[in-house]
Amino acid sequence: MKTTNVSDHFHEECGVFGIYGHPEAANLAYLGLYALQHRGQESAGICSTDGERLHCRKDMGLVAEIFTESVLSELRGANAIGHTRYSTAGQSARLNAQPFLVECSKGQIAVAHNGNLTNAIDIRRDLEMSGSIFQANSDTEVIVHLIARSQEDNLEHALRESLLRMEGAYSLAVLSKEGLIVARDPYGFRPMAFGQIEHNGHTAYVFASETCAFDLIGATYIDDVQPGEMITITDSGELHRKRFAPVQDRHHCVFEHVYFARPDSVVFGRSVQKSRELLGRLLAREAPVEADIVVPLPDSGVDAAIGYAAESGLPYRMGLIRNHYVGRTFIEPKQSIRDFGVKLKLNPVRGVIEGKRVILVDDSLVRGTTSQKIVRIVRQAGAKEVHLRISCPPTISPCYYGVDTPDKNELIAANHSIDRIRDHTEADSLAYLSLEGLKQAVQDVQGEYCYACYTGQYPTDLVGIEQLLADSREKK
Ligand code: AMP
Repeated sequence: MKTTNVSDHFHEECGVFGIYGHPEAANLAYLGLYALQHRGQESAGICSTDGERLHCRKDMGLVAEIFTESVLSELRGANAIGHTRYSTAGQSARLNAQPFLVECSKGQIAVAHNGNLTNAIDIRRDLEMSGSIFQANSDTEVIVHLIARSQEDNLEHALRESLLRMEGAYSLAVLSKEGLIVARDPYGFRPMAFGQIEHNGHTAYVFASETCAFDLIGATYIDDVQPGEMITITDSGELHRKRFAPVQDRHHCVFEHVYFARPDSVVFGRSVQKSRELLGRLLAREAPVEADIVVPLPDSGVDAAIGYAAESGLPYRMGLIRNHYVGRTFIEPKQSIRDFGVKLKLNPVRGVIEGKRVILVDDSLVRGTTSQKIVRIVRQAGAKEVHLRISCPPTISPCYYGVDTPDKNELIAANHSIDRIRDHTEADSLAYLSLEGLKQAVQDVQGEYCYACYTGQYPTDLVGIEQLLADSREKK
C-alpha cells in the first residue's frame, strides 16, 4: 500500500482568496494572491468559472512568474478562487499545488485550503483501505474525497458533512460552476476575512486570508468569516451565512500576529501592526538593557523594534539592510564564505553599528541558526555589545495547525535553557517576551488565542499524532 508521509501533513502555510460576481475575477484573484505572497512562495494557483466549466492554472513559483497576461486571459468568468502555498513536502510538491480541481459526483469542484487537519491521516487511511486513490499528500485531497463520497445531494450539504468529520485547522474556499462556498473551522485557527467591491452598481463578494489583499483591489472589509461558519453564494448571487458546527471555544493562531501576517492586515479583528508594536513596548518594559541603539531584523522584527525603541527612549536605527530580491535560485560560490546565506539576505550598515551597544529585535527564535549568524555579522560590523530581544515567548512545541515549525528536537528552546541559547547565539544578553506580555499585546481578554507553540498545550485532541510522527521518522 502507498505510504503517507505523515510529517508533510503538518507543514503547510498558505494564503487563500475567493471572489464572486466580478467580470475581472481572475485578474483580481491574481492581485489578491500578489498581496498574500508572503503566506507561501512555493506554488500558486487560480481557478475560475464562467458557469459552464472550471478553468484552472497552477504551478510552482511565485504569483508574478506563473500568471502572465495570456494565462490570466484563459481564466474566464466572474467567479474565482486562488491559493499560494509554502510547504516542505519534497518531490511531490507540484502535485500538492492548489486549488485542487476534481470532477466528481457533485460535478467539477475546486478547493483552496489553509490550515492543517489533525485527523487527515486517519481519514486518509480509512479511505485508502476502502479503495480511494490519492495523488498528493495534502489534507485538501482528503476533503475532496469526503465531498465526492458524500450521499448528500448538493455540494453545500456534502461539504458540511465532510467538515463535520474534520478536526484541526481549516479556512477554505470551494468553487463550483454554481457558486462559491467559504468555511472556517469552529475554533477559528486560521484567519479568513470577508469583504465586498462595488462595480457598476453591482456588489462582488471577496474573501481573503488577510485584509491586505482587500486594500490592493479596492474592496471593503466587512467581517471575518466566523469560526464554524459557512458562507454560500449561489448562482443567483444570493449570499447566505450559516453556522455549520456547534459553538466551540476560539483558538486563533497567535503566531499570525507575532510573525506570519503582514502588519498592514487586520487579522482576527485586530491590527497586526498594533499587536507588533505593543509586543515591542512590553518587551522593553520586561527586558530593558543599557544600550545605544535599537536595530530590527528586517522585515519581521521592524514593528516590534519600533515599539521597543519608543518605550525605551533609545534611537531606532536600520542597522541591517535586507535584500528584497533574493530568489530561490542563486549561484553559491564554490569556496565556502562564512554565513553566506544570511549575508545574501541581510547586510549590516557599519556606520550605524560601529562602536555601539546594539539591541537586536527579532520576532521569533525557532532553531536559533539565524540569530547566531546575525549576532556574528553585527559584531563583525563593529558593535561593542549585542543584546538579543525576541518579541514572543520561547517556542517549545511544534504547530499542528498550519504553521511550519520543525520537530521538537530541532526547536532550540524545547531542549535548552535561555542561558544556553544565549551562549549558542553568542549574544551578550538574551530575553524573550513573557506569555502574559504576548496575551496583552494581542489583547486576548477572553482567552480566544492558541498558544500551543509556547505552552505545549494543544486545544484539540491530537490522539495518535505524536506516535504517527515518530513512526514516520523511523521509516525515513
Ligand atoms: P531560526 O531561529 O534560525 O529557525 O529562524 C528564526 C527566524 O525565522 C525568525 O527570525 C523568523 O522571522 C523566521 N520564522 C519563524 N517562523 C517561521 C516560519 N514558520 N516560516 C518561515 N520563517 C519563520
